[in-house]
Amino acid sequence: MSVLKVLEKMTQEFEVAGSRSPRRDAELILSCALNCEPTELYGSKSSSCVDVLTPVQSLKIQKLSERRQRGESIAYILGYRDFYKSRFLVGPGVLVPRPETEHILEWSVEFYPVEKPLRILDLGCGSGCIGLSLLKEFSKSQLSAVDISQEALFYAKKNAGVLNLKDRVTWFLGSAQQFAEIHSGTQGFDLIVANPPYIDPMDPDVEPGVRLFEPSEALFSGDGGLEAIKEFSLSALSLLAPGGYFLMEIGGGQRLMLESWLRNQWREEIEVSFLKDYSGYHRICVVSWASQRGKGIEVSHG
Ligand code: GLN
Repeated sequence: MSVLKVLEKMTQEFEVAGSRSPRRDAELILSCALNCEPTELYGSKSSSCVDVLTPVQSLKIQKLSERRQRGESIAYILGYRDFYKSRFLVGPGVLVPRPETEHILEWSVEFYPVEKPLRILDLGCGSGCIGLSLLKEFSKSQLSAVDISQEALFYAKKNAGVLNLKDRVTWFLGSAQQFAEIHSGTQGFDLIVANPPYIDPMDPDVEPGVRLFEPSEALFSGDGGLEAIKEFSLSALSLLAPGGYFLMEIGGGQRLMLESWLRNQWREEIEVSFLKDYSGYHRICVVSWASQRGKGIEVSHG
């Protein structure tokens, strides 16, 4: 069968299996199996990477296709996901980076001058996509990356190596709370970022493939999804330096509950605002000390 015929067939199969981007999935899997760029699949006979598939190639494609049809993320199948400006290695055991998380990066680069030597903390770093992307932007900054999952830290460390950022990262295997206990009374952090697990385990809208293949400790949390959000907030605010900012991703419907809980905990001591995602949902919570806002940092925006 020719490559283009296989491409059509795979697209149809992925569509039936419920993929939201069946054509793209087919292109990526085919080009991965054939070791070429997706655009090369469409070349004329002489310029396309391959015209007719060998039995070995067909078998490889079939195996990868079956994984996708069962709902496994294309990122796990390919072994990477592009996030912000970099490529992050991922695999089962670490959460696949999502585009909405990039808002944390966008806010940070707009807010701080790139030469600022920030002390950054990434709580629940997963693949390292937020913290390492920040390190790339802020070349004089240092990162502490925390995760309870050994597998997640394995990927984060690999990514730090690939991105040449190893020398500026300190790793911690444990919970946000454990990290906070050990570091309380120290200088604190200027920028604390987090993407905690915040999905209610009973949420019926979670895609089956996500539930089946992605690590549940990175997705689900008790108390309607708020348990980890609260734990991360308590830890982060105990470590937030004067003038610092804490940015945390939350679920689409969690703003009001989180805001009233934060207000109850810290009253007038903090300022809270939210950034919207592209669909208009408040998805990133931004917290700073009310009395210190703007002190210690050169405010360019916000
Ligand atoms: N945004 C992810 C999803 O909806 C959830 C990530 C998380 O819980 N932190 O699948």
